[in-house]
Amino acid sequence: MIISGKDLALRIKHDIAEKVKECEKKYGRVPHQVVILVGEDPASMSYVKSKGKDAEQVGFKGTTIRLPESTSEQELLDLIASLNADGGVDGILVQLPVPEHIDESKVIAAISHEKDVDGFHPLNVAALWQKNPCVNPCTPKGVIKMLEEAGVEIEGKRAVVIGRSNIVGLPMAKMLLDRNATVTVAHSRTRDLPEICRQADILVAAVGRLRFITEEMVAPGAVVIDVGVNRDPETGKLAGDVDYEHVAPKASVITPVPGGVGPMTRACLMENTLECFLSKMNRR
Ligand code: NAP
Repeated sequence: MIISGKDLALRIKHDIAEKVKECEKKYGRVPHQVVILVGEDPASMSYVKSKGKDAEQVGFKGTTIRLPESTSEQELLDLIASLNADGGVDGILVQLPVPEHIDESKVIAAISHEKDVDGFHPLNVAALWQKNPCVNPCTPKGVIKMLEEAGVEIEGKRAVVIGRSNIVGLPMAKMLLDRNATVTVAHSRTRDLPEICRQADILVAAVGRLRFITEEMVAPGAVVIDVGVNRDPETGKLAGDVDYEHVAPKASVITPVPGGVGPMTRACLMENTLECFLSKMNRR
């Protein structure tokens, strides 16, 4: 079974668009999402463009602020402070990575946790680990929705997450753990990775290496979630961490790249923006 993140994301965005129409009636305005891009990294420019398009599709007010590479850390922090203080802004996102002269952790911490639609702010991260209400990071949130959509039972299953970044691997492991999977987190120093992977009922690859997960690393009937985004140097096309052609026949459920986790991450970003807007309106 192939889980199409593209189709599910379309449905989620459709539901959001319906709710946005009600926001307008009930609160007199629609959610406003601001995306900041510093510099001209081509991949970041394309991600920012997609986010703007998604915002438009669901009926949000979307603002993209493009700043030159030479923007100082203080200038960026000042801009974030002014957006935090602006009652008409509901979600703020700074496209990562930021240029090297800017401290990424300062930028993440500067965004008000109530407008942190990425779910990267330390208060949101802490709340996730303490099982308190919070903005869930978009990529693992999207993966959980895909598993639910495919009817995959998580409770009691052995899950292996490869990758331990703050934005994907760690929150992914925590969200599976909270749904009562038994979770192993693997990383670059893990020994016997193929053996560990073969024990997984649910295998999540978030490494960033083309065709890293081979057929031999996957147990028959496993659920395989491919978070990786890589460029195949031979074809120039996007491809995941999983050797899809050889792994797909062995897996019971698999996500493709492109068209899998990526679109779901973007849909969850829109959902987070709506959630930030609604919690603000309901706090009043
Ligand atoms: P990252 O910060 O570079 O983390 C990569 C992880 O892979 C690290 O934990 C690293 O281990 C581990 N790793 C590297 N080589 C390994 C090896 N040989 N064996 C086992 N583990 C290894 O990357 P990220 O931000 O988490 O992103 C991971 C991938 O997901 C990238 O391809 C990224 O583009 C993609 N991504 C996709 C989406 C989406 O929406 N589809 C969203 C975010 C990210 P160490 O910790 O030991 O270094």
